[in-house]
Amino acid sequence: MNWEDNVRRVTPYVPGEQPKDGQKVIKLNTNENPYPPSPLVFEVLKSYDASSLRLYPPADAAPLRDAIADHYGFSGDEVFTGVGSDDVLAMAFLTFFNSDKPVLFADITYSFYDVWADLFRIPYELCPLDDDFHMRLSDYKRPNGGIVIANPNAPTGISEPDDIAFIEEIVSANPGSVVIVDEAYVDFGGHTALPLIRKYDNLMVIRTFSKSRSFAGMRIGYAFGCSRLIKYLNDAKYSFNSYTMNRLTIELGVAALSDGEYFEKTVASVVRTREQSAEELRKRGFTVTDSKTNFLFARPSGISARELFRKLRERGIYVRWWDKPRLKDWLRISVGTDEQMHALMEAVDEIRDMSGEKT
Ligand SMILES: *Cc1c(COP(=O)(O)O)cnc(C)c1O
Repeated sequence: MNWEDNVRRVTPYVPGEQPKDGQKVIKLNTNENPYPPSPLVFEVLKSYDASSLRLYPPADAAPLRDAIADHYGFSGDEVFTGVGSDDVLAMAFLTFFNSDKPVLFADITYSFYDVWADLFRIPYELCPLDDDFHMRLSDYKRPNGGIVIANPNAPTGISEPDDIAFIEEIVSANPGSVVIVDEAYVDFGGHTALPLIRKYDNLMVIRTFSKSRSFAGMRIGYAFGCSRLIKYLNDAKYSFNSYTMNRLTIELGVAALSDGEYFEKTVASVVRTREQSAEELRKRGFTVTDSKTNFLFARPSGISARELFRKLRERGIYVRWWDKPRLKDWLRISVGTDEQMHALMEAVDEIRDMSGEKT
């Protein structure tokens, strides 16, 4: 008998590569926002009184929780906060997916879902997207222990046409399980399922400050659900780690949320750059999906995705590529500033010219 026989073995999620400190790269591989957080965040940070850090934070993160509730027209007991939406998602998997029946999610979606399922020993079944990367409604109308939908989806960038009706159909067909809608990218153009929260007690909508509020480094995620659902989530959270959100994060989160004008301006910039960049890539023969997110999902022509990924990396431009059957011909490219995207296009042209010379 060896202690290693008793280890909970897991294959961890693999995030996009982080450059070493001081290394100069154009980082388009983890869907971070290219713009800094709101100036209000800088102000609060400058005048922050560090002496308060001797105290534990409010376990319910009430100042931030209530600011989020106000902002979206909910009450505090319909909101949950966590250390990034990854923390919220993990806690939701642990709390709500407690059945022998499989949890359902798409074969191409956020690649953390199957990792949590494996970690918590939750059975799951993948529902293959169709050839255009759309979900098939019938896949979600069979016995299940829960459902997870990323809308807009990653890494495809796609949202379902008429997505609210689509999600409502799934939620209403499954009163026996919790349906989680992961809206990490919704601020960049998807439709939110939030209006359904008051109508269905088995729906949970999860969001993040990481992308649209330029706060990936601060780790703020949040969720909406009926108060009973949120209570179950809190019961699990307080049984695991009560003080997940630190005092500084709570305060800076409130500041970031309060600057609606800056939020709208930066999101609009990302969307504008996304559309221009998609056009530029299409001009170069790429197939690009109709992204509603802050990244582009693009299939190059004349060069393999793997080759282009490698050559861009050599030039200090990081994008994301997966060695997986349905993804290996595609790159996921986060939307940067106009300058960064210009540098990307120049590098693509240069790489293609050089590989052209060889033939
Ligand atoms: C980025 C992302 C998350 C996690 O974001 P956090 O930084 O943990 O808030 C969750 N779901 C999807 C689909 C994402 O792309």
